[in-house]
Amino acid sequence: MSAIVERTALRWDYAPAPESRDAARIAPSYDLFIGGSFVAPADGRRAPTLNPATEEVLSEVAFAGPGDVERAIEAARAAAPKWAGLPALERGKYLFRIARLIQERARELAVVESLDGGKPIRESRDIDIPLAAAHFFSYAGWADKVSYALGGRDWRPRGVVGQIIPWNFPLLMAAWKLGPALACGNTAVLKPAETTPLTALLLAEICQEAELPDGVVNIVTGDGTAGAALVRAEGIDKIAFTGSTAVGKDIQRALAGRPTALTLELGGKSANIVFEDAALDQAVEGIIEGIFFNQGHVCCAGSRLLLQESVAEEVLRKLWERMQRLRVGDPLDKNTDVGAINSREQLDRIEALVAEGEREGATRRSIACALPEAGYWFPPTLFTDVAPANRIAVEEIFGPVVSVTTFRSPAEAIERANNSAYGLAAGVWTDNGSKAFEVASALRAGVVWQNTYNRFDPTAAFGGYKESGFGREGGPSGLLPYVELV
Ligand code: NDP
Repeated sequence: MSAIVERTALRWDYAPAPESRDAARIAPSYDLFIGGSFVAPADGRRAPTLNPATEEVLSEVAFAGPGDVERAIEAARAAAPKWAGLPALERGKYLFRIARLIQERARELAVVESLDGGKPIRESRDIDIPLAAAHFFSYAGWADKVSYALGGRDWRPRGVVGQIIPWNFPLLMAAWKLGPALACGNTAVLKPAETTPLTALLLAEICQEAELPDGVVNIVTGDGTAGAALVRAEGIDKIAFTGSTAVGKDIQRALAGRPTALTLELGGKSANIVFEDAALDQAVEGIIEGIFFNQGHVCCAGSRLLLQESVAEEVLRKLWERMQRLRVGDPLDKNTDVGAINSREQLDRIEALVAEGEREGATRRSIACALPEAGYWFPPTLFTDVAPANRIAVEEIFGPVVSVTTFRSPAEAIERANNSAYGLAAGVWTDNGSKAFEVASALRAGVVWQNTYNRFDPTAAFGGYKESGFGREGGPSGLLPYVELV
């Protein structure tokens, strides 16, 4: 017995296992991708993009001005008739090529994603990049089958779509947006996030390599003003946005009264519910995966942990023990579990909300770990003694911070889980199948995972209710927003 205790108490020291940066070809500066070519910004400027783990400048990237956004829309408009007129099977072939090229350049893309965004290389290598390729593959397959997804209805593409994506899954979000749009015969103007433009620019190179017709995909890097200009520009038939609820509301207001179609994938404060009959060790892994994956920069992160009272103490003990084994540090090290916070602004937001949690009386526990001097870091953190009305229990922190409350019965769990302005995702941990289905059906959340968390698949729909937005991405449902039924 004592040998087991000793063995499980061991803390392993891992030798550094850094992924080589040699795979990453980052140019000193990048232009905008408009009409199939890289072009200098006309009324825009340039700004550096940083490695958040070191604060080193990786490259200078063009920031599109309103005139540049107009040019990109014109290029997309000019390309639209020919692209829509191609036989669907041909459009599918271009998507297959893009998917294959992502696979061929996977290592390079993974390294660049981790350098530019701060996420652990294990995640960009094993999740972000393969899933981005899988989305293009999946929608390549759908290109000539769209009417099957629509119950045989006649349809046409919407035309030119504007797509604005966030910094937490840069290439993957580009794939979620471009795959279905292109499969349905639309042309696109994509606006990546200010802090993570690089993999989108590599995707622009991939579009060139795939010989995608000029203007079908246009990429305008820049800050929020480029996104705002895209939303307000004439000649956009649909906007797809993923990001904060505040900006989503601003976009909805800007488009009110206009014929532009809109889908919004916004924030979340998702409940991860552990019942007393769950396999608790497995649940603890799911809690870790739910909140510390990608530093908690995940819209569907399981940031509200709901524990059944009878097992709360045991789960918390196991969770804290497991949390202390998380390795925080160099995103390029293959042993790293938790990488860098994406930006100074995001770190400030996390720190402010965590301070507010302490001020409101919740008990904070952050793991003790040596954090690098440069860069932006936040240790995995657990809050207990949380009141349901505390800001840390209500607002999206978008960082490695989980707040814990308890419940007594399934009904109370459901009520607490649904007591949120958001409705993006949830997790249910139980060995009882009928309880799992009953609880899942009662949860007002777009995605409910059972005995797992943060699993993504290109064939499954993803999206939310309430302030988490509307519209679905992924699978056949993801085609709907990109067609007009006739
Ligand atoms: P934003 O919503 O500001 O960013 C998302 C995208 O929208 C980025 O490309 C951004 O550009 C762009 N954008 C910013 N302002 C506008 C605008 N007025 N009109 C059109 N597009 C705009 O998120 P933040 O990066 O500021 O993050 C703030 C908070 O939002 C986070 O703390 C988190 O809580 C939440 N968030 C949620 C995400 C989710 O997936 N649900 C993803 C990202 C953030 P730019 O990057 O250049 O500012």
